[in-house]
Amino acid sequence: MTSKIQALDNKHHIHPFSDSKELHEINPREITHAEGVYIYDDKGNKLLDAMAGLWCVNIGYGRQELVDVATKQMSALPYYNLFFKTTHAPAAKLAAKIASLAPSHMNKVFFTGSGSEANDTVFRMVRRYWDLKDKPTKKQFISRENAYHGSTVVGASLGGMGYMHEQGDLPIAGISHVEQPYFFKDGGDLTQEAFGIKAAQSLEAKILELGEDNVAAFIAEPFQGAGGVIIPPTSYWPEIKRILAKYDILLVVDEVISGFGRTGEWFASQYYDLEPDLMPIAKGLSSGYLPIGGVIVGDKVAETLIDKGGDFNHGFTYSGHPVAAAVALKNIELLESEGIVERVKNETAPYLQKRWKELAAHPIVGETRGLGMVAGLELVRDKDTHERIAPNSKAGGICRDFSMANGLIMRPCGDTMIISPPLVITKAEVDELMEKALKALDETA
Ligand code: PLP
Repeated sequence: MTSKIQALDNKHHIHPFSDSKELHEINPREITHAEGVYIYDDKGNKLLDAMAGLWCVNIGYGRQELVDVATKQMSALPYYNLFFKTTHAPAAKLAAKIASLAPSHMNKVFFTGSGSEANDTVFRMVRRYWDLKDKPTKKQFISRENAYHGSTVVGASLGGMGYMHEQGDLPIAGISHVEQPYFFKDGGDLTQEAFGIKAAQSLEAKILELGEDNVAAFIAEPFQGAGGVIIPPTSYWPEIKRILAKYDILLVVDEVISGFGRTGEWFASQYYDLEPDLMPIAKGLSSGYLPIGGVIVGDKVAETLIDKGGDFNHGFTYSGHPVAAAVALKNIELLESEGIVERVKNETAPYLQKRWKELAAHPIVGETRGLGMVAGLELVRDKDTHERIAPNSKAGGICRDFSMANGLIMRPCGDTMIISPPLVITKAEVDELMEKALKALDETA
């Protein structure tokens, strides 16, 4: 039966990334509250949220400290802008805290309201940088197939999702895409290492095609998230670094998912030993409790922008929003003081990864992969040929539904099932996750 909330929703609400017609038929599930790693619906169902919302609730649900800091900040200063030669403590303190955790050559932060806005900011900041360096022809961005960098016009264009490009005539000019390091799909007869080099070299080929004087930046997620938790072979990033240095091209590492502890380091750039010029962030920054994002800016770009740049004509009403910034700061302080990132690195992530690998033995699993607190698996009919279970990536959706019926949120990306649980998940909760994932796989088979 359709509840009152579902009826209102069906009548008035257009959901993001959803087929509204289908949603009206099945009725959206009403989520009412959440605690720790669990969410609850209005029918009393309890689900283990192995996606941490949308890769964001790193600290877990229900932290009263974040509620308290939001309440206090809302009373003191609910809003003020940062455009008119003013600042406030939450924005300044948060910028300093982020700089203290970022790679040592990154000491400045530009705040946005989301990850998409962070990537729009990157697009304008990079082009401004090269103008100020008297290299105005350096305008082209190179990204990767199947990348996800957000849903605004620039974000979706930087992303490499064909199904997004089809709507709205994207990508916009000045953005091209190269191979993704997706070994399971494209590795063929190559070793992982040889494939990593080959995938990286598609960047060099594109730079030569466009002309190195025309290429401004390469943008990439350290591991691709929404593309299906694609973890690059170890040879990939060193080869990318070599190529970017050779042609004087900026590196933008999109840490919107991977930042704030997901890999067991504060940033995946530290995990992979990368030296980004710019790092878009969001999500885990506030553990999703309030919307906030930003771009961490390396010294090279910041100095040029500030010393030579004058006004940077870019920003958002909610850049550095005081309540969101206060909550983000408290969120980071809790992650620090409770040793949550260290626990991920030394205890819970190794345990999750060890247990996740067990699923590789399942008859419909072609591959398991993961690092830190993210993991994925490929659903197949045939483990050797990688033949899919059903055409048009239907198996992923079916597995998601069985998973939910068993009290577990896993996300399908085509026929790849992915998880990215809250960083506070315990070993016992990992065991529960595994038991439920296994049941969902059995029922999908
Ligand atoms: N960049 C990456 C890597 C993401 O995964 C996402 C969202 O999932 C974004 C950017 C966009 O962030 P938002 O949805 O906050 O705009």
